[in-house]
Amino acid sequence: MKLYNTLTRKVENFKPAGDTVKIYTCGPTVYNFPHIGNYAAYAYWDLLVRCLKLNSYNVKRVLNLTDVGHLTSDADDGEDKLEKGARLEGKTPFEIADFYAKVYLDNYKKMEFLPADVIARATDYIPEDMEAVDLMTKNGYTYETRDGVYFDTAKFPEYADFARLDLEGLKAGARVGFSSEKRNVSDFAVWKFIQPGENHAMRWDYLGRPGYPGWHLECATIIHKELGEPIDIHTGGIDHIPIHHTNEIAETYAAYGTKLARFWLHCDFITIDGQKISKSLGNTYTLSDLESRGFSPMDYKMWLLSGHYQGTRNFTFESLEAAKNRRANWRERIALCYQKPVESDEGNFTRVLEAVNNNLNSAEACAIIDNAKLTLNDWRQIDELFGLRLISDTHDVSDEVYNLIHERDVARANKDFARSDEIRNELIKRGIALNDTPNGAVWYYAN
Ligand code: AMP
Ligand code: ZN
Repeated sequence: MKLYNTLTRKVENFKPAGDTVKIYTCGPTVYNFPHIGNYAAYAYWDLLVRCLKLNSYNVKRVLNLTDVGHLTSDADDGEDKLEKGARLEGKTPFEIADFYAKVYLDNYKKMEFLPADVIARATDYIPEDMEAVDLMTKNGYTYETRDGVYFDTAKFPEYADFARLDLEGLKAGARVGFSSEKRNVSDFAVWKFIQPGENHAMRWDYLGRPGYPGWHLECATIIHKELGEPIDIHTGGIDHIPIHHTNEIAETYAAYGTKLARFWLHCDFITIDGQKISKSLGNTYTLSDLESRGFSPMDYKMWLLSGHYQGTRNFTFESLEAAKNRRANWRERIALCYQKPVESDEGNFTRVLEAVNNNLNSAEACAIIDNAKLTLNDWRQIDELFGLRLISDTHDVSDEVYNLIHERDVARANKDFARSDEIRNELIKRGIALNDTPNGAVWYYAN
């Protein structure tokens, strides 16, 4: 397999270091309903895992859920997103976390994403966080301010390397009147202290005062405990590169003296009608919004897979309609395969897999599928690769329905069109659509 590695800014040949591919995915902050853009990354990383498995690799995948410490800015300003959610909804941050973690995992299932081997909640790793802060301090990488324990980025000479950061430029661009006690603009909190009178319900005693972990630390400690670094592949969105992943790398090195990951994969952002997704523009569509407009989560996944993870994708309802039609067309071809098996020894699934092996080029894979002669066995493997419920949504009808379809074929052959129309209507009532093609009638679920 070939994958683009953010670390080297090159497409490289991928091989795991050991006999299992160790993958970590930065998951969501569970404080509100995810919008469709948030599923982009998970769809592409699901494709990555499925592709690795089809290439016969063992995979161990860890996904985290951030339920503490992620402030409204990715740096150290603003309110904790969970505390803010709690304030807005009149609940505790723990209730907020439980509720939105469930929403997320329910939707994860609806999107047919393979379950992660470990789903790690940040608040379950607080002792490990404290231990990591102790180690960073012992190794001379931290200093204390009134506000928390900070990472001194000047002590880690490679700090700027991963994101190709321009630290001088950052310094010059720092806000006028920058009054924090931070030594360098790029320094960040590894642990935050809760000030007297400050309302922060998630709190743990450490260093003699109440506090909570800085956002990035959870990923470093979860990886250290659940996978052991260096892991093979670390994934996230491109927004993670300059702060979150840069800081995870620094913390891991400072605490454990190790490199965090061998390959880093980042996906680009989705825009909607050419604009960024934001509350103020009113375009934060959720999966349910798409469903209420007649599109299934699988149609949206088809839309995501029709493009490349590294391109900025522009979402429109017209393009979603096209994806829905593409999936319907594939299912129609599968239905046809069941009725009149396609014979082929062209090995077309191999071509599909090769496209995805080439830095997850799912767009090209889709184009190959559109034009290739495919057997039922090819389709089965395509379903394994894409997780689009192509087969199961197409071919799990009851015997009764199957007999009706057959009876209609016979009626048509006998030119008994009254009976064949009657059966068609009966099938529609059961959600089965029929399409009379030159090759005979094919059927599929009408949704
Ligand atoms: P948030 O919960 O807002 O921090 O978003 C979680 C993650 O979803 C972000 O860190 C991004 O990597 C990803 N994300 C957010 N918006 C988009 C978007 N428009 N397109 C693709 N990914 C996104
Ligand atoms: Zn992370």
